[in-house]
Amino acid sequence: MVQAMSRSVYQKIRKPVVITTAILFHLLLIFHLLFSPVIIVMASYKGIINASFVVFALIILLSLFFGRAYCSWFCPGCGVQEIMSFFIKKKSKNTKALYIKYFLFTIWIGAITAGYTLNGLNKIDLAYGMSDISFARKIVLTLGAIVIIVPLTAIFGQFASCKYICWQAPFMIIGTKIRDYFHFRGLRLHVHAENCRNCKICNFKCPMNIDVMGHVKKNSMNNSECILCGNCIDSCKHNVIRYAITK
Ligand code: SF4
Ligand code: SF4
Repeated sequence: MVQAMSRSVYQKIRKPVVITTAILFHLLLIFHLLFSPVIIVMASYKGIINASFVVFALIILLSLFFGRAYCSWFCPGCGVQEIMSFFIKKKSKNTKALYIKYFLFTIWIGAITAGYTLNGLNKIDLAYGMSDISFARKIVLTLGAIVIIVPLTAIFGQFASCKYICWQAPFMIIGTKIRDYFHFRGLRLHVHAENCRNCKICNFKCPMNIDVMGHVKKNSMNNSECILCGNCIDSCKHNVIRYAITK
């Protein structure tokens, strides 16, 4: 089991980590190399295994243990939304818009699969997208993510981009579903429902606008949109929720 720490400690670690990754990956102009949905499509039509191919494969593998923790603890796109959360207090709604990301993901994976099917796997080039792409194009690809994330969050609320259009989220949701189906041991939220005082502070603090208290009452914290940020853990005065490594 992950030992309980004093309240708010997870946010004191998580927020600086995820915000730092956002700043570093964008400033170093390597965001597109590792996370861009565009570069991997270009690579697939040349039969190249590029760095983002490896990153996306790692993300799905890691999700078999960590669920969606990558989103809230390391993803540079999430870091941008974390910065925006200091200014945007509106919560994004859990509407049918949540399904947009699966639609985009299906088209995107289809394009990548077609690329590798037509061209084969010819070589590994982890630097593909660094030297063979112009500086101006790197800026466009890097800022492209910010240009999408910022207005979406500003208009629809906190973490709207993560919830509605993120191309990486379905990898982790699939990984988490596989983990849960086979009852693999992994990082999850564990509850002591009997300690709950119905204050709903956890609901108020959840950046993904999940009905956390409702899950506590059901004694099940499984929710595809949970990014394991730990805000509900840190905000609950009664230590109802904690991280645990369980089946
Ligand atoms: S913050 Fe804790 S006590 Fe309050 S509703 Fe949530 S789980 Fe229950
Ligand atoms: S349920 Fe808790 S851990 Fe999951 S996203 Fe909401 S606040 Fe974060």
